[in-house]
Amino acid sequence: MLQICLEGIKDRLIQGESLDNLDRIPIESEDLLDVLYKGRQARLHVLGARGCPFSCAFCAEHSRKIRLHSVEYLFEKLKLIVRKYHNLIFFSDDIFTLNKQWAYDLCESILRAKLKLRFFANGHIRYFDRNLLIQMKKTGLERLCYGIESGNQEILKLIRKGFTVEEAEETIARTRETGIEMNLLYMVGNMGETQQTIQDTVDFALSHNTQKWCSYAIPFPGTEFRRQAVLYGKIVSHDYDLYTNDHINYLPHGVSAEFLENARNKILFELYQRYSVRQRLSRQLKRLF
Ligand code: SF4
Repeated sequence: MLQICLEGIKDRLIQGESLDNLDRIPIESEDLLDVLYKGRQARLHVLGARGCPFSCAFCAEHSRKIRLHSVEYLFEKLKLIVRKYHNLIFFSDDIFTLNKQWAYDLCESILRAKLKLRFFANGHIRYFDRNLLIQMKKTGLERLCYGIESGNQEILKLIRKGFTVEEAEETIARTRETGIEMNLLYMVGNMGETQQTIQDTVDFALSHNTQKWCSYAIPFPGTEFRRQAVLYGKIVSHDYDLYTNDHINYLPHGVSAEFLENARNKILFELYQRYSVRQRLSRQLKRLF
């Protein structure tokens, strides 16, 4: 495996049995944690659970089996990270709010120990719980991410997102009531898209005054999207180094790359604006001091 990593061999799959008891994975030793976290100013990624019960057509997450670290394990790891590095954490779990009791208890441990955290986490439109969100906010939640993907009902159904546009609207409104900031994530150029469905996503995104991000849909091998890709459009790149959110690798029938790019830019425009204002401010501050 090391040889594959070191020599960059990309044409082999590494497979193994999944581990049911995640706590059997030892917490990384301090020198390994240094490699992961030392000197990083950005958010430090921590994984509390693995697996997702949904089957979104584009998603490369294949494990439906949910496995969680115990609250005690995770709390120990957080203590170590926060004390040694810094306290800005991103819980990279597919859905942090999936197991309410677990998430609530983890927050409770952090609060009880007065561990000062600032964190980001992924939620899910179908897993909204007001009490849990309030608890997360008290614990230091700065922003909750929701993968909305599309503002068009037919596309949400085709990509098997597991919720409706109406449900997305409702959860966004209810989350807003808690005062928690959101980051809404979109995707353009999925299978089955037309110019109109993409426009619906742009309209949906712009109708919500939140932080947002938009990716180009990627036909990852092994996904339902990939299996159906040619039925609905054309894979325009087979170079897996380009399979990132910023590259157009797939074009649905009747949609040009230019149209996709414009749609994405409209969604990201606000983000660019905020970023350039921040850049300008920081340049001005540097000049002053
Ligand atoms: S996109 Fe998110 S909700 Fe859908 S299967 Fe993947 S991890 Fe689960």
